Amino acid sequence: LFITFEGGEGAGKSTQIRRLAAHLAAAGVDTLVSREPGGSPGAEAVRHVILSGAAEQFGPAMEAVLFAAARNDHVEQLIRPAIMAGKTVLCDRFIDSSRVYQGVTGSLDQSFMRALERVAIDGIVPDLTVILDLPAEKGLARARLRRGDEVADRFEKETLGLHEARRQAYLTIAAAESERCRVVDADRPEEEVSADIIAIVDKLIEN
Ligand code: C5P
Repeated sequence: LFITFEGGEGAGKSTQIRRLAAHLAAAGVDTLVSREPGGSPGAEAVRHVILSGAAEQFGPAMEAVLFAAARNDHVEQLIRPAIMAGKTVLCDRFIDSSRVYQGVTGSLDQSFMRALERVAIDGIVPDLTVILDLPAEKGLARARLRRGDEVADRFEKETLGLHEARRQAYLTIAAAESERCRVVDADRPEEEVSADIIAIVDKLIEN
């Protein structure tokens, strides 16, 4: 199984992945946890290039190419082999982050974005995507607690409106791909959010 986690800043993706991974390990499910951008040595190197700001002059289209290159390395080096070996892979961000973060600007050609995605994943589509949803303001307040993080500096420069637009973009994807995507209300105590996710995943594993 391949399960991805999506959502804005401070939605609690990494916390929820940790909780689900612990649940699956206790149930004897062979689980691998990864994240994007990154997850393999080549992709982690690209992550550093992107998040350090070194590629800022690239413009949105070439930045999207960098994300795609990182994703393809991650898919081929880690995700596909793990799935082939029968593992359950949990990934913090995947294609929907590109659709939302690179796509929300509206400046990128949609057929170009679709082609990049197709080449990057080469058939590896998540069985389930958990979208952690909460008001942008609340997510930002949570995320600001993570001081010193290279990512924190990056989103300090962004507006609340942009974060709200990303939230809406996630909800639009969820509505369009309701077979794959499940929206979970993340504006609740982490145990409650976790219980919902575990119930969804357990049901998926049963079938
Ligand atoms: O919260 P997380 O550690 O996943 O943050 C990674 C950062 O990378 C995000 O805050 C976002 O700004 C950026 N990102 C992006 N496009 C992607 C994936 C991540 O801009 N496709």
